[in-house]
Order: sequence, then structure tokens, then C-alpha cells
Amino acid sequence: MTNVLIIYTGGTIGMINDPQTGVLVPFQFEQIKDHVPELKRLKYQFKVHSFDPLIDSSNMSPEIYKQIALLIQKEYDHYDGFVVLHGSDTMAFTASALSFMIENLSKPVIFTGSQLPVNGIRTDAKENLITALEIAAEKRKGRAMVPEVCIYFDYKLFRGNRSFKYNSEKFEAFRSPNYPILAEAGVYLKFSRNAILKPGAEPVKFHTRLDSAIGILKLYPGMSPEIVKAVLFSDCKAIIMETFGSGNTSTECWFLELLREAINAGKLILNISQCKVGTVELGRYETSRALMEMGVINGYDMTFEAAVTKLMYLLGNVKSNKKIAEYLATDLRGELTVY
Ligand code: ASP
Repeated sequence: MTNVLIIYTGGTIGMINDPQTGVLVPFQFEQIKDHVPELKRLKYQFKVHSFDPLIDSSNMSPEIYKQIALLIQKEYDHYDGFVVLHGSDTMAFTASALSFMIENLSKPVIFTGSQLPVNGIRTDAKENLITALEIAAEKRKGRAMVPEVCIYFDYKLFRGNRSFKYNSEKFEAFRSPNYPILAEAGVYLKFSRNAILKPGAEPVKFHTRLDSAIGILKLYPGMSPEIVKAVLFSDCKAIIMETFGSGNTSTECWFLELLREAINAGKLILNISQCKVGTVELGRYETSRALMEMGVINGYDMTFEAAVTKLMYLLGNVKSNKKIAEYLATDLRGELTVY
């Protein structure tokens, strides 16, 4: 019989209004079950591991990513798939992190949550939970249909490291504009088999060392040298530079000189775009040619969430900057497309 492990970390899905304060507070999975009687009718078995304390996802951290990864590692051979219940706010970060931490995955790890608590009359929690379980249990010719870390939300299945939360009001909270959805739930569960990663050919491997010494340089017209300097020369090993359009920056001498100095001082600078759709094309315009020449790394069409967690993973596991730079610009887990 198919077995699925539910890892309940917290989030709105399992929250209720505290009658005294009116604030949303977490409650236990047993109470979630009371609100989703359909769980008793599933054709497969599931068990639940609850985090204690339950976590609002704004309080997620690399330490908790590690706990989730270690739990999956411990239970990997005992279950056919995993469903992670998680707050939607930082779900895309955790899903991206897990995608890098688990190499050669051959089983589904499906993140889901909801915009409204499970006890709400118009809640989206039930559908999200039940379909996430269906996807985690789905097989084809005896193998997992989706051997990937994904996010299931509002009838759509996204690759975790391609998605981001874009709406805090709609049930349609996530998008992945640079990669097609992996499945859509309607009357039938329709999988886009060509878009889904193949299962790992080698045995699964877990990497749990993460290093979050990352600086963020989000550019805007009129940024001062002092502010750029403060980010570049802060106590970080790598900087994610969020650039304009297809990877462009100012060509002012002071700006390029500061970037050059930072690179010479051993900092890695990764270029991703502020645009949510499209890719960085270093060298397409004059405004990005200098970046390419000085060794700024092309982040292609990576999401911010994927860039942050990929860097955490690489800084934690790879010694040489040259290798990290090479891996950053390489597709490791389906997170970027090299054109
Ligand atoms: N603040 C909640 C969280 O991310 C929101 C949600 O679950 O959707 O934990």
C-alpha cells in the first residue's frame, strides 16, 4: 500500500482565530483532520510528523530547512512521497532550499498550505491538502509520477525552485512564469510529463550544510556609492545583485569600480533580474558587457528564492569560489534555463 508522510511545519492552513485576541494562532494536526473528513476515505496510508512549536513561515530558517531534510532522509525508504504543510509566505524559499539539499530525488516532496485557515467556511486548505496528497501518492508504472520538490496551490503544481508567492489575497498565491506548471487539477489530475524532472539515476544524497552569508543589492536609479559599498563590503561571501531588465546596471565608473573591487576581494556577485519574467543576458547591451568581463555571474532566469537558497547550499558545501561560480550558472535541479 502507498504510504505518504505529512510533515506539518505550521502556517495558516492549521491556524484558528484566538477568540480573545482575534489573532491567528496554530493548532494541532488532529484538529485539522476533524475539518477534513475526506482524509479517512483516501486509498493510501499517511502518517503525520508535526513540528513543535508550529512555525509561521516568516520565522523559517536554514536550521529548520535542515530539520525537514533530515526528517525526509530518515524516512526516505519508508514512504512513497512526502507532503510538507507550510506557511505560504516563505514556502518558495523552503521548497527551493530542499530542492538543492536533496540530490537525485526519486520521490515527490510536495509543499502546500493555504490562504485561509482550514476551519474557515470558504477555505482553500482542504483542496490544497487533499490534492497534494494525491500527487504525492501518484505513480506511473510503479514509479513516482513527480520525483521533484514542488508547490501545489490553487489547482496548480509548480516546480518549487521556479515559483514565488506573488499574491497575498487571491487563492492563486503562486506563479512560476519562467517554467510551465507540472500539473493541473480539474476533473482529472493532468500531468505535463515532459516538464517533470526524471528521477535521480544515482542513490539519493542529502546535503544539510547551509551558509547564509549573502548580501542583496537591489539596484535603483540614484543609488549612492555609500549604500552600494555598505552592501558589497558587508560581512557576506556572496551578493545577489538584482538588476534591471535583461541584467543591466548603471555604467557609471564608480559603480563598476566598486563591483570590480568586491570581486577582487573574493566576493561572488550573482546577477538576477528584477523582472519576474525573462532572463539575464549578459553582454546583450553595453550596460551589461562590463559585468561579464569583470566576472559577475549570470543567474539567467532564476527566481530570487532559488538564487538565495542555491547560494546557501553552494557556500555550505563547495570550497572553491571558482566552482561555486560555475555551479551558480549551471542548471542543477531544474532551477534555470541556459539559453
Ligand atoms: N503567515 C503565514 C505563513 O506564512 C501565511 C500563510 O500561511 O499563508 O506562515
